Amino acid sequence: MTAGPSEAGSSAVLLPHPVAGGAFASPVATGTGWPGDPATARTPVAHDAETVRELAAGAPGLPELDARISVCRACPRLVEWREQVAVAKRAAWRGEPYWGRPAPGFGDEHPSALVIGLAPAAHGANRTGRMFTGDRSGDWIYAALHRAGYATQASSVAAGDGLELRGVRIVATARCAPPANALTPAERATCGGWLDRELELLLPSVRSVLALGQVGWDALLAAGRRLGWRIPRPKPRFGHSAVAELGLPDGRPLRLVGCYHVSQQNTFTGKLTEQMLDAAIARLRE
Ligand code: SF4
Repeated sequence: MTAGPSEAGSSAVLLPHPVAGGAFASPVATGTGWPGDPATARTPVAHDAETVRELAAGAPGLPELDARISVCRACPRLVEWREQVAVAKRAAWRGEPYWGRPAPGFGDEHPSALVIGLAPAAHGANRTGRMFTGDRSGDWIYAALHRAGYATQASSVAAGDGLELRGVRIVATARCAPPANALTPAERATCGGWLDRELELLLPSVRSVLALGQVGWDALLAAGRRLGWRIPRPKPRFGHSAVAELGLPDGRPLRLVGCYHVSQQNTFTGKLTEQMLDAAIARLRE
């Protein structure tokens, strides 16, 4: 149950990382020097939902949890898809290696706020290995986090580009790119094991969560129920700038803020504007 070579297929062609150089297969093998790769060849690999729960519960801290997430193979459909995309690539990035593994959370290890999205994009985080990095959605969220003082740079191009988040961490409903951006209920439930543990580890400092889209909103509420939080009834409804006050087991409140997803479908059409995104992020600090 340790990290080894890809089982569903990999490209033997070694290509240089756009920032770090070097030479990497697609998907990237552990221990080969990819910037920020949290795993080693000894990192245990989850192959089903039960081992996700076991390995998540046994992760003593965020670095080990990130490592275990980054080598997970528990969802056969998603593993096949992420690795197929990593080998086939998009023409614009044919000369680059693709991460092709799950994307762990990114940002501050003691954040006051979280951002929860859907899942990596096939040619975004599945290529770069970092949440919301290398695609148009990422351009929007990192620029907004920079305007709000949470990000040290306004863009996120590649792992190893120097970007740091301060006071915020980005997590996800699922850590692998799904075909057609759609997860099955079973995949959401399986990856929820990683999310639950990440929330447990982060809760001592977290005061608020920005949910990008209905899927992120629902995933956060579902995780909260599993973790014994107080969730208002009826279930709070998602909407842009909607706010729900949740109760943590230690009695502290947790503010959940809704925000339309930073997908191109929303940003190109004007359903989500920069001003709307900035206003939703501002509610995290109210
Ligand atoms: S979606 Fe989550 S649980 Fe499924 S393979 Fe990816 S990391 Fe593992």
